[in-house]
Amino acid sequence: MDIFFYTGRGLPPFISNSSFKALQLALPHFYSNQEIFDKISLPEYVGIQDSLSYLTIRDIMNPRCHVLGGAKPDSITVGIPNNQKITIEEYMSFVNKSKVDIAPSLSEEASLSCGNHRSKRSAKNAIVMLDSCLELKSPALKLLGNIQGGKDMESREFCAKEMKKRCVDGFVIGGIDLEESGAQLRRVVGAVYNGLSGDSRMIVLSGPGRPLDIVYAAQHGITFFESCWPFILAEKGKALDLPLVNFEDAENIEDMDFYEPELDLNDEKFAMQKGALVENCECLTCKQHHRGYIYHLLRVKEMGGNTLLAIHNSFVMKKLVEKLAKAKEEGKLGSVYADFVNKYCMGSFSTIN
Ligand SMILES: [Zn+2]
Repeated sequence: MDIFFYTGRGLPPFISNSSFKALQLALPHFYSNQEIFDKISLPEYVGIQDSLSYLTIRDIMNPRCHVLGGAKPDSITVGIPNNQKITIEEYMSFVNKSKVDIAPSLSEEASLSCGNHRSKRSAKNAIVMLDSCLELKSPALKLLGNIQGGKDMESREFCAKEMKKRCVDGFVIGGIDLEESGAQLRRVVGAVYNGLSGDSRMIVLSGPGRPLDIVYAAQHGITFFESCWPFILAEKGKALDLPLVNFEDAENIEDMDFYEPELDLNDEKFAMQKGALVENCECLTCKQHHRGYIYHLLRVKEMGGNTLLAIHNSFVMKKLVEKLAKAKEEGKLGSVYADFVNKYCMGSFSTIN
């Protein structure tokens, strides 16, 4: 279990990539200069060759980066830089020579807000396109079946079932936009979970990677998560305030009061506070700086404030996934989601039923 932190072009927002062992890269930023990769791999080119690299077809943090398909399952059109049409052959040629570790099969990205027609089409086409990608992939590449279907749960489940029959290295739940979170996203995860029914290959959840969605997805067999959420919060001046307790430590959880998952460091109440962002957090920011200092940096629009928040937020997310991995190993994942919602998210969260 691990988390692919968003980079887009190779560097996560505000911070260095050196402390991350799994990182995302977005195809549109590299596609038009691909002759570079005749000489050097993409991970080497951006300096992340020591991390696990995961290519996405779109850049989730760029609102112009839509990925559209058509009636024929042979190509997609990516919104940046300038509505670039990419065929399956062109995509697989790029992926193979870029030497990223993991990439999804080519597919349009049908978000949870798109219509029924496109939802159904995306699932059917994704299956056909996966077969073509499999024929063209290099042996070193881990190719993931890109599960589409938009908001249509039958299509999602059907797509997952069909892809399960293929000789792929894993799966990704695609088509999750930046603003997608909550009950509808969890329904999609549930539909894919039914479709893959106990498959042990890697499964990636695309999208913003918000903590609550990650906890739910982990309980439903998802093992990898894309996440740009720590950086989005950092940009807004917010710190994740998830309690880093052991989930299995029920006594400890019982003793805790309700936690707001986020602290807004723009709030004047932090101006004179000397404590760490989150008590007992062992990240660099919390060990070396206090809340008042970060408030001051944000107030004077000094980017160091965002950097300190990004360090803290990404640390908290890494710890969260480590805790989930440990709970899974020990067979205690089942109760984690319920604990998480009941103890920390009351009033801010709607469950499926
Ligand atoms: Zn911290």
